[in-house]
Parts: sequence; C-alpha cells; structure tokens
Amino acid sequence: MALTVIGSIALDSVETPFGKREEVLGGSASYGSVSASFFSPVNLISVVGTDFPEKYFKMFSKRGIGTSALERKKGKTFRWKARYHYDLSYAETISTHLNVFTGFRPAIPRNMNSKGNLLLANIDPELQDWIFERIKPSGLVACDTMNLWIENKKKALLKLLKKVDLFLLNDAEARQLSGQRNLLEAARYISDKGARMIVIKKGEHGALFYSRGLRFIVPAYLLETIADPTGAGDTFAGGMIGYLSKRSRITDKSLRRSLVYGSILASFAVEKFSIEGLLKITPEDIKNRYEHFEKLTKF
Ligand code: AMP
Repeated sequence: MALTVIGSIALDSVETPFGKREEVLGGSASYGSVSASFFSPVNLISVVGTDFPEKYFKMFSKRGIGTSALERKKGKTFRWKARYHYDLSYAETISTHLNVFTGFRPAIPRNMNSKGNLLLANIDPELQDWIFERIKPSGLVACDTMNLWIENKKKALLKLLKKVDLFLLNDAEARQLSGQRNLLEAARYISDKGARMIVIKKGEHGALFYSRGLRFIVPAYLLETIADPTGAGDTFAGGMIGYLSKRSRITDKSLRRSLVYGSILASFAVEKFSIEGLLKITPEDIKNRYEHFEKLTKF
C-alpha cells in the first residue's frame, strides 16, 4: 500500500542536557517519513524555503521518499527552537516561525489521489483537514498533533478526529484535549469524539492502544543513552503506519506489531540529535532490537 506523509519540515535548534544543535533537520514529516521509509516507499507533501539545504532532498530520495510534492517556496523554511530540561518528556518551545508554512496549501499531484494510506503528521489541523479532503484516501488515515493546536485550534482538530482511523497523541495532550486526568477516561473521550483507534504515547513509559477499550500496551525500549527526544512521537507514528503499509491486511496482530516497531524506531531516533539516529541504522539493527524487545516482554 502506498503511503503519503504530510507535515512540517523544519530547521530545528535544540538544546538538551546532553548537547545542543543549531538549524538541523527537523519537523514532523521529516521524522515520520524517514521512519516509515524503513518499511514502505513514501510520498512526501510539505514545503521548504529557498534556504533549505539541497542535501536533504538527496537524502529523502535515497531513502525512497518521493519529493515531487515537496515544494520549495520563496522565503524561509519553518524554524523551531526548543529546550529540554532533565524531564525529557517536556519540550519548552522558545520560538516557532511558520515562515513558508503560513497559509500553505500544497498542489496535490494527480497520481497521489485517494490511493493508499495517509499520515497527517503534526501540523495545523486546518491544513491536515484540507489535505484529507483533497486526497480522500482509500486506506488507513493516521493523524498526530501537539499542544499548540489543542490550545488554539481545538474545534478544527475535533472535526478532523471524526475522519481519521488512527489518532496519536501524547499523554499530556490527551489530558489537555479531554480535560480528564485518567488516561483511560481521556481515551474514551477521544473515542467518543469519533477516532476509531487511539494511541496515547507516554514517552519513556511506552504507549497504549485503545479501540473501544484498552487493547494493547507497549513499553518503551530502555536505552543506555538519550541525546534528544525531539521527533520521538513523529518517528513512532511513521514506524507504525510504515509497517502497516507493508502488510496486506490490518489485523489485531499487525496493529500490535506496528506499535512495537513504532516504539523501536523512536528509540533509535532519541539516541542522537535530529534524524541522525535513524540515518545510521539498518533493517538488521531494527530486527535485532525487535528480537531483544520480544525477549524482554515475553512471559
Ligand atoms: P515531537 O518531538 O514528536 O513533538 O516533534 C518535534 C518536531 O515537531 C520538531 O522537529 C519540530 O520542528 C516540529 N514542530 C514543532 N512545532 C511544530 C508545529 N507547531 N507544527 C508542526 N511541527 C512542529
């Protein structure tokens, strides 16, 4: 099944207790598509400015990520600046500059219409909805979001929820969206709003899968070192839908496995800054970690 990913492509400046990087590749669609590319070819829909380094276009192409719908627009690439303290589950956003994303409405290539799966990685829910309506995908639709949109565009997000199959968000966002402290109550609220399947990510504590009741829990892969948690959620989402795009049918088993792959891909992402952790690994590394994960959780 073909996979289309839409979301942000950014130049991130990030500081964590373990180091600092300026203007490195970031954005939900970068993490999501690179993660998914381990399983499936990807069509990327996004926008960058004239200052966006050419080498990243080459990197995407090399990994089977189609860039024909990655627009280069006059202006500056989206910028995000953030800092993490010892609690790595929370990013303190210092600045967000939408730049070329302001009012962005992409040209959707004809051959992309309606075929395959769609990952609406984190970006303005109005843009996510606009894309959804133009593509009207026949396959699985997954959607991720963040606190900024829950705060500023809750109505648009709730409208979009009804259309997606799989909605991913982190624990703090689930509480914020639902007004419920208990995560099962939060998942029930989101389910009542129309999302068929929900993944609540809990950072280093793993993730839960809810679909008319709690169906599966997955731990996070325990690491010796973490450099930068940026993009863990987007990588998780990309790994999940990338894996599901490879399967001929979506079953209970493939859904469970997709969460395990999401968790494993995210573990590689946070070991390094930017997408470096994902670029250095091979399918063999993923397989090894999957087998180790299996051993650690079997009982
Ligand atoms: P995560 O750590 O999974 O929440 O994702 C972090 C990534 O999201 C960073 O690489 C940022 O460039 C990107 N990002 C931050 N703010 C936004 C926003 N408002 N819309 C879209 N992407 C964003």
